[in-house]
Amino acid sequence: MEELFADFVVIGSGPSGQKGAIQAAKLGKSVIVIEKDEHLGGASLNSGTIPSKSLREAILDLTDFYQKSFYGRTKEVKKVSINELNFRLHKILDSQRVHLTKQFEKNAIRFLHGMAQFEEKNRILVLDHDARVLYRIRFDYALIASGSKPRNPKHVPFDEERVLDSTRLLAIDHVPKTLIVLGGGIVGSEYASFFAALGTEVTVVDKREHLLPLLDKEIGLHLQKSLGGIGLKMVGNTEFERIEKTKEGVKLFCKDGKVLSSEMLLYSLGRIANVEGMGIEKVGIAVDGRGFIPVNPLFQTIVPNIYAVGDVIVGPALAATSFEQGRLAARHAFGAQTHYFSSFYPIGIYTIPEISSCGYTEEQLEELGFHYEVGRAYYYEIARNQIVGNDPGMFKILFHAETLEILGIHIIGRGATENIHIGQVAMTFNARIDYFIDQVFNYPTYAEGYRIAALNGFNKIKHRK
Ligand SMILES: Cc1cc2nc3c(=O)[nH]c(=O)nc-3n(C[C@H](O)[C@H](O)[C@H](O)COP(=O)(O)OP(=O)(O)OC[C@H]3O[C@@H](n4cnc5c(N)ncnc54)[C@H](O)[C@@H]3O)c2cc1C
Repeated sequence: MEELFADFVVIGSGPSGQKGAIQAAKLGKSVIVIEKDEHLGGASLNSGTIPSKSLREAILDLTDFYQKSFYGRTKEVKKVSINELNFRLHKILDSQRVHLTKQFEKNAIRFLHGMAQFEEKNRILVLDHDARVLYRIRFDYALIASGSKPRNPKHVPFDEERVLDSTRLLAIDHVPKTLIVLGGGIVGSEYASFFAALGTEVTVVDKREHLLPLLDKEIGLHLQKSLGGIGLKMVGNTEFERIEKTKEGVKLFCKDGKVLSSEMLLYSLGRIANVEGMGIEKVGIAVDGRGFIPVNPLFQTIVPNIYAVGDVIVGPALAATSFEQGRLAARHAFGAQTHYFSSFYPIGIYTIPEISSCGYTEEQLEELGFHYEVGRAYYYEIARNQIVGNDPGMFKILFHAETLEILGIHIIGRGATENIHIGQVAMTFNARIDYFIDQVFNYPTYAEGYRIAALNGFNKIKHRK
């Protein structure tokens, strides 16, 4: 066993651990990252964000999704094999891993492979697979960035072929003809739309009526219509009772007596924080009722020199926000200027079509009693959309009817997750709707949708006066 010292020890090499480690290194601190997985990068790189988005792009490309009149099943879907998809996927994963390793090297971050386990408030062990101690590290500060994994309840007969979660799904050996997705949250809805685009008959089962109830209602309806157009079926208001494997595939028994069958099933009902075996109890840290590590607004746990960030703490459980949380925690630990984590950030949902939003939904504004107006731009009004294909989509801008301040932006359709940032920046500077009218936008671009939506909304106010 080797004895080591580091100013900053990071548990986990996912987005929150990476950015925490790099920030501490940039502040001149000695940093050790401990990772138990075979690969660096966390769930984000190995089983979550990057694989799912790589597959999405490969599916769109290889099925010629944008070459056809998209949201109709009148045309045959071009067959794509799992090998073609995996070829693209692994190329991307390999290059991301190389990039991450270089970043660690460049910043002199030491990486140790093994399972981190706290011994004391300033000491941590690194264990191998057989629980042998490889290293004992003394540290000044630690960052728990251990992320999350799919929830695998005992009564669900998971395997690597038919009853899958979002990690197991990446190992399937063929594209199924039929798929049930249990859970219409972000991960479930994304994969449901990817498989529907591949030509799989997909049924989403959820106890709620619609997919993604967090969305602005109008955007949600738009999504539902688009997904219906590529053959996705929604079975809402339905709770599952049990899952059984059969010779041909899977049977899903629902509480209301419905029985659904499919070749494969994706169980997508939540994730749990990775705290098992980490010895947090030895330093006095206990998880909350939902299994997350409680932290203060500066990401300190109850033990002030031990921070926790990313999926191991309560929401929003995004790679995007995890990056920033890790960075802020490291800055606070070493006394660099910092700020509270902002509650204003965009949400990107990579269903087909994709969605992105920031700020209030229309329903929230109604509930809060705001005097608001809405500006809309439909994708068919945007020249760029005609050029690259003719996807349905819309920009929806909510703004204060008197002060004209922008209150919420919601985009559905191609480019949404990129284009949202224009609106996000404008909102950060408290822009009014007329800001988009007074600017010249490149033409033809999707971004022009901001101007069209702003004019649409502004004209409603003008005519009302
Ligand atoms: C299918 C899917 C799609 C997603 N898509 C998006 C998206 O499009 N955009 C987005 O922003 N977010 C997305 N997310 C969410 C995103 O992946 C997570 O929010 C993000 O990975 C959390 O980062 P993290 O650093 O907290 O933890 P993780 O990425 O989970 O990394 C934690 C690491 O810690 C390691 N670890 C755990 N315990 C120990 C221990 N005791 N010792 C050593 N190492 C340990 C784990 O092996 C793991 O490598 C998606 C998630 C899933 C599942």
